[in-house]
Parts: sequence; C-alpha cells; structure tokens
Amino acid sequence: MHHKVTIEPFRIKVVEQIKMTTDEERINFIKNAHYNPFLLTAEEVIIDLLTDSGTSAMSAEQWAGIMRGDESYAGARSWIRMRDAILDMTGYKYVLPTHQGRAAEHLLYGNIGGPGKVFISNTHFDTTRANIEYSGATAIDIAIEEAHQPEVYHPFKGDMDLIKLRNEIEKNGAENIGAVILTVTNNSGGGQPVSMQNAKDISLICKEYGVLFILDSCRIAENAYFIKDREEAYKDKSYKEIAREMFGLADGTVMSAKKDAIVNMGGFLALNDEKLFNSCRTVLIITEGYSTYGGLSGRDMEAIAIGLKEVFEPDYLHYRITSTTYLGDKLFELGVPTIRPIGGHAVYVDAKAFYPHIPVEQFPGQALAIELYKLGGIRACEIGSVMFGKTAEDGSLIPSNMELVRMAIPRRVYTQSHIDYVVEVFAELRKNKEAVKGYKIVEEPPFLRHFTAHFEPVS
Ligand SMILES: *Cc1c(COP(=O)(O)O)cnc(C)c1O
Repeated sequence: MHHKVTIEPFRIKVVEQIKMTTDEERINFIKNAHYNPFLLTAEEVIIDLLTDSGTSAMSAEQWAGIMRGDESYAGARSWIRMRDAILDMTGYKYVLPTHQGRAAEHLLYGNIGGPGKVFISNTHFDTTRANIEYSGATAIDIAIEEAHQPEVYHPFKGDMDLIKLRNEIEKNGAENIGAVILTVTNNSGGGQPVSMQNAKDISLICKEYGVLFILDSCRIAENAYFIKDREEAYKDKSYKEIAREMFGLADGTVMSAKKDAIVNMGGFLALNDEKLFNSCRTVLIITEGYSTYGGLSGRDMEAIAIGLKEVFEPDYLHYRITSTTYLGDKLFELGVPTIRPIGGHAVYVDAKAFYPHIPVEQFPGQALAIELYKLGGIRACEIGSVMFGKTAEDGSLIPSNMELVRMAIPRRVYTQSHIDYVVEVFAELRKNKEAVKGYKIVEEPPFLRHFTAHFEPVS
C-alpha cells in the first residue's frame, strides 16, 4: 500500500518540555526583546525555526557514543572513528577536525586567500564570505539566473552559472583564483540543490585551468536526496554513492557537522593535497587544538562518526526532505508566497509579496517574523533588508533584492503536529494582513545588525 503520510521514522525516548505562553505574554516578551526575535530567550519560544544549525536531536546510538567517547589527547579512538567515517564518505586523503564549520573555513581560506585572490561560488555562505574577505581576498557569487526568481521552477536552483565561471576565471587570471567553492545545498540561495551534472562541469573547468575546487558540504546528504529524485542517471544509486561521487569531483571539502552530521557542535576540513594539509594543520594546532581533536571533545567526535552514517539512511532522508516540503506545500495551498520549489532544510516565505502594503524601508520580513511570534510563539529569521540592506550616503536604505522570512527545520526535533500548528498560525495570519504595520530600526551595531538591532513599530 502507498501511504500518504510520511511518519517520523523514529520513536521519542527523551522529551524536552515546551513552555506554552499566552498572547498577552508574547506581546510583552517581544516588546522587551525590542522586536528582535534574536533577543528572545529560548524559553519564550514555542516552535523555534531560527536555524537548523546545531539544533538537531541526536539518536540513542549517538548518546551511547557520547558515553563511549575517548578523551585521550592524541590519537583518541573517537578521533579514529570520526576520521575513518569522513575518509570513507569523501574518499579524500587527509582530515582535520575543527569545532565548527567556520573554523575549517578560517584554516583553508586564511591559507589560500589573501589580497589579490578571488573566490568564486554559487553563493558564499556568510561565514565563508567573511573568512575570505577577512583574508583580504574577494568573493564572487555566480548562481544561475533562476536562483533569483522565487516563483520560477528549476530542479537544481543551486547550480552555478558555467559561462560566468569561465568568464571570471579568464578575467581574473587562473593564477589569482583562490578556489571555486560549490555550496551544497545552497544555503543562502534557499537551500536549493546542486546537480551532479553541474558539479561535473565545474570540475572539468577547474581542471582545465588548474584551479582548486572545494565543496562546502554541510548538507551533502540532503543534496544527494534531490539528485537521486531529480537526476535520471542517479535514480538507482545510493545516497552515499551519490555523495561520494560528488566529493570525488572536488579537491577537498569544508563541512559544518552541525548540519548533516546531526550533532550540536563540530566540523572538519578534508583535503587531498599533502602540502596544503600540512600548513592548515600548523594553524589548527596553534588556534584550535592538536590535530586529533581540533577543539572537539572525544565524545563530540564519536557522535559525528555515528551521525554521518545515520544521515544517509533512506528512511531518514526521505522523511527529512518530505517533511520540509510538507510545510512548503501546505503554505502554498494557503496562498502564502514562498520560494519554489521547496529546498532541503527550510521554507522561505516571500514577505514582500505577503505584505505588499509595507514598504521595504519598513522591513516586511521583520514584520512577518514578529507576527509569527505574537500569534504562535514561532521564531523565524528575517533574511531581507534587515540582514543585507545597506545605507546610502544620504541615509536612505539600499534594500536587499528579496525580503524573505526563513523557517529552518531542526533535524528530528518537531513532529508533523508541530508543523500543522505552524500552518494553522499562517492561516490565521492571512486574515488580518492589511492591518499589520512595518518597523523602524532605533538602534544598530556597525556590523551584522540583524543579531542585536532594536526595532519599534511604525505608528
Ligand atoms: C553553517 C554553514 C557554514 C558555517 O558553519 P558553522 O558550523 O556555523 O561555523 C558554512 N557554510 C554553510 C553552507 C553553512 O550552512
């Protein structure tokens, strides 16, 4: 029998209490948080969809691994397990453990970056861009055109534009390219997948010009699901085989284990080049820790080794992608405008289309995030002009090209009834849309203002 409901392929052994709150309480909480969801305490939130990073629920096997963790300084058993799991998954020769993804980025891009160097990506994630620019290098994003059109269907909206890739290499000179970085799935581009064909073409171009090709592989398993589902030639391959083939096209990878390794903290850098590995290792030992733990506890490494196996289980991946799509499809049925198709780890609502009466200067995405909280205690993240807007010399806003609200789904944390509740809140939100007002910023720091800025409703 074919079942319509994709059930969570796990039973719940340990639970964490959610504190229920009233409308009146939430109106106060968000006011005290200066209308910035980042400033709420987690206890004030009912459903937390701020990020899928480090918020996963570990399995009973992973918790058992925590107890087995070997805390030896050098050559711990847990390190050997983590290293072997990564070597097996990627096929690369060398691995360095780090405390999270950005530390691995710092090691690699600090090493191969520097003034005059250019990095090219489908879309650099914000910490990736920050590490590259901090080294003095330049970061260029060249996703395909369709990536910027929320309503246009494309099976692999995370793909890189190959013509632009060639042009950028020619224009800057191959010797000045630090690396080509393919982010799978493309987080900042809506969690959209990258096709194997695109990765193959990029690999060929990089080989032709002798340019280093790096995968930012935080969500490589989720990406493999989309390839098996949408790329004919891969329908009979296993998710792990697909991931391995993609790793094989590149020269190395940076991964935040807080995503597809289903742990709360961790990351790594894996490479084939011995010389590059050695110089990254030197910096690792100075800044993170010795090269067989790199800022992680033995128990963390044990949990990563187990998580990297669990993430490729077909039932898990099917549930993971289907449950994200479930939320997206329900919102679509309600007429809530979203980026389509739905990506792997999050649903992105187009707030500009949802609140057309709120001008971008009054941050429609922030308004939607606040309404979601007030009505349902749901915490989501504005990805629009609060996060990416710039201020012109005359003080006016240079808006972001989209005003989105991201609802990221933590792995194995919420059940379908939690998601149905989110849908219900949206149904309610639709009713009184025109009465919702925008916000103004009354206090902001010089960098990354979305984390700490204070807002007030526009009267
Ligand atoms: C999360 C993330 C990173 C950075 O990893 P951290 O563990 O948060 O430091 C880099 N790239 C992508 C695509 C990410 O999603």
